[in-house]
Amino acid sequence: MQPSRREYNIVVLGAGGVGKSCLTAQFVQNVWIESYDPTIEDSYRKVVDVDGKSCILEILDTAGTEQFKIYLKTGKYCLPYRLILEALLINGFLLVYSITSLTSFQELTPIRDAILRIKEVDDVPLVIVGNKSDLEGDRQVSKNRANHLSRKWGNVPLYESSARRRQNVDEVFFNLTRQLMKKHSGD
Ligand code: GDP
Ligand code: MG
Repeated sequence: MQPSRREYNIVVLGAGGVGKSCLTAQFVQNVWIESYDPTIEDSYRKVVDVDGKSCILEILDTAGTEQFKIYLKTGKYCLPYRLILEALLINGFLLVYSITSLTSFQELTPIRDAILRIKEVDDVPLVIVGNKSDLEGDRQVSKNRANHLSRKWGNVPLYESSARRRQNVDEVFFNLTRQLMKKHSGD
């Protein structure tokens, strides 16, 4: 009998319009869809084989950033209650910005702060994703700047991806999966 597969919950977070839905669709269904309803929030299951091991990813594609605009009295960013509950159950995070939007990059820090606060940890499996790498001419976030953030967070894996060209899409999800497999290998 086959041993049952491990299952991991991961969530795709980031500003509206950075390409979260396109990245998820490329990874899960191998399709490029030009335009998504930005309010759509959905989850997908995919069996993933990494390094000869198989697991199931439950991927939550979130809808935009409005959820992060709720402030606590402290003035810091916070997640809505629903996402707080989910964040506790979530194993790994993809933090997506667009290389063409500095503000989307600047949103990553409060998002990560909120996650760490909710989970009451110093570190969590995550990958930083600079999407729309095909739009080099419109770049607002240098590779250097993104590398700096990755180092500041303890050398968090960083990829520039293009959902449109399907570049570095699998790599992003596989990197997170490897982190999760490693973290939970002793469970
Ligand atoms: P979300 O709000 O983060 O889910 O963003 P979407 O996945 O809906 O994408 C927002 C817009 O960016 C859409 O018009 C997509 O066609 C476009 N887009 C997404 N990924 C890429 C990419 O890698 N390259 C380019 N050029 N456009 C992209
Ligand atoms: Mg979306």
